[in-house]
Amino acid sequence: MRAPFCSGGALIGAVVLFAGACHPARPSSSVLLSTPPADQLRADITYLAGAPLEGRGTGTPGNDSAASFIARRYSALHLASFPQADRPACAKGGVTGKAECFVFPFVASVAVRNSTPRALKTQNVAALIPGHGPLASEYVIVGAHFDHLGRDSANARDPEKGHVIHPGADDNGSGTIAVLELARRIARHPTSRSVIIANFTGEELGLLGSEQFANHLPVPKEKVQAMVNLDMVGRMKNDKLIVYGVLTATEMKGIVDSANVAPKLNIAAVGDGEGPSDHAAFYRKDLPVLHLFTDLHDDYHTAADVAEKLNIDGIVRVADFTERVVRTLADRPARLTFQRVQTAGANRPSERQGGGAYFGSIPDMAAGDTKGMPLSGVRAGGPADKAGLKAGDIIIKFGDKAITNIYDYTDALGGHKPGDMVDVVALRAGKEVTFKVALTARP
Ligand SMILES: [Zn+2]
Repeated sequence: MRAPFCSGGALIGAVVLFAGACHPARPSSSVLLSTPPADQLRADITYLAGAPLEGRGTGTPGNDSAASFIARRYSALHLASFPQADRPACAKGGVTGKAECFVFPFVASVAVRNSTPRALKTQNVAALIPGHGPLASEYVIVGAHFDHLGRDSANARDPEKGHVIHPGADDNGSGTIAVLELARRIARHPTSRSVIIANFTGEELGLLGSEQFANHLPVPKEKVQAMVNLDMVGRMKNDKLIVYGVLTATEMKGIVDSANVAPKLNIAAVGDGEGPSDHAAFYRKDLPVLHLFTDLHDDYHTAADVAEKLNIDGIVRVADFTERVVRTLADRPARLTFQRVQTAGANRPSERQGGGAYFGSIPDMAAGDTKGMPLSGVRAGGPADKAGLKAGDIIIKFGDKAITNIYDYTDALGGHKPGDMVDVVALRAGKEVTFKVALTARP
């Protein structure tokens, strides 16, 4: 068991979460409901991006404390929790007043280059704002990841600094505090459909928390109207907001446009629902998704991504816009019409190396110790798709290279160039199948 972050904790599974001393004073719900948004956002980010949480790396005490902070907020807002049969205190769900009932512990399996995967005990956090009327048994998911790099320099853009704290104020402290703000607003005026507020861990390690949540939804997938993801919404410049996923339902573009009221945001709409953040885990479940993003900046994934550099008024505007989108999704009578997007959009980082050859795969980043590289999907219209590969296939050979994990695959692809014809061997339902793939240039 890990050393607890602070003393006096309650035990859940193997994780010590609810420490007494080092959390900020728990505001009463009346104070919570009356604090101006900007002040609440500032207070929350000061805590989440503060040094004591050491950059909220998955599997660290700082990440656990961030999870308990979020869970305590949902308790203070009197939100409902989902029934968790494995815990008597939380078995029934509803408004239990118990922060621990909002926590979903799980063991994440992290792929490690040339070694066996690492098991990390961690947790997602989720709460429910029940709807009212005939649509109350349908759901809109609003989410954001709360983990960041911690002291891990491997995924940092300033590795020369060594194991320093990466506060992750924008990535993704900003999305986390915006989601807490949305929970506060919607709890005050609930919508017709119920709203699920979800906070994911493990995003920086490959969407581990959102894949876990999407694979173990607390409600039937068919009842989910859409998922709205906020990842890096803290550095708005020139009123600009990038909105991914506007083509993942035929009605989505109209909903986004109608939510952009005066003072208007400068919205850059992108169709695709795929991408390097948590909405992708839900898009792969054929759910309409949106990802809100105020764009990259020089401090991305460096120790300089600090709270002082956030545009708090910009986050308030993102919350205003998102509230309008979520209310439309949750109150409109009709369900959305999901559509899978055929786009040449940006690809997952794994395809950016070597000869620029493009294969068009979506590696399953939560594959654990499966030998080979399992696919959680293929890019519609890409080389792999055209060759007939699909979700569930496990790539074991690429050209003349044996593939035992994603790193072997990245290296193998890096050795090819656009136009190469490659034999790819995959396991499908336990049988080896060979696919002739015409690699292209990266779109
Ligand atoms: Zn992020």
